Amino acid sequence: MLTVSNLTLDYSGVIALEDVSLTARGDIITTIVGANGAGKSSLLKAVSGLVRPACGDIRFDGVSIIGKPPEEIVGMGLCHVPEGRGLFPYMSVLDNLLTGANLRRDAAGIRDDLDKVFHYFPVLKGNRHRIARNFSGGQQQMIAIGRGIMSRPKFYLFDEPSIGLAPLIVREVIDTITKISQENKCGVLLVEQNANLALDAALDAYVMELGHITMSGEAKTLKADESIRRAYLGL
Ligand code: ATP
Repeated sequence: MLTVSNLTLDYSGVIALEDVSLTARGDIITTIVGANGAGKSSLLKAVSGLVRPACGDIRFDGVSIIGKPPEEIVGMGLCHVPEGRGLFPYMSVLDNLLTGANLRRDAAGIRDDLDKVFHYFPVLKGNRHRIARNFSGGQQQMIAIGRGIMSRPKFYLFDEPSIGLAPLIVREVIDTITKISQENKCGVLLVEQNANLALDAALDAYVMELGHITMSGEAKTLKADESIRRAYLGL
């Protein structure tokens, strides 16, 4: 379980998060809905140790992770699949995937997890020696998710996994995230521009506006809320 308490983060005076608290359970998908600039990416970066909050606490399975370096946080089982994917474009698919396992020393487990990646994304198996930049946006997103799987996480942070993808592929990506969460009993905190699909995939949801959490509840309840339908679902 991931617990964020009273988190405040500023970038040299620009307040990105103010007194943000949320809980994301360890075996379901929780989504955060919000407009551009609301602070969603900043929150995920704070959780994975990429930016340091001014105050507040973040606990993962009861242990405070504030101030820990990102590699230690990954080692604890928290994996961040960032917006924009962050692949090494001139490295092969296989080498990109293996960067996700670079803290691990269990060769047999790494092989099993590679099989798991190819189970979720069969297209990557036959193309594993091709360089990443030659793949479509959707396939590059598969590589980024696969690299996350290779760290054998207990909890995933996904930042806009569908950005720039065709509508059909978007659904496929969200469906695969749901499968990964259910089959591996992993928690997911999902930031996703397609609020409609994200609220369908999630059980719990938060709304974030200008650095604050403004609503929270069951995803299906929020999806039925009139103000959310108008602001985020285009209805
Ligand atoms: P988006 O969907 O556009 O990524 P977001 O909800 O993820 O939006 P953030 O990227 O977290 O929002 O940005 C929150 C606020 O912090 C915005 O006002 C943004 O301009 C500001 N911000 C983000 N990163 C930095 C930075 N490195 N330096 C200064 N300000 C930043």
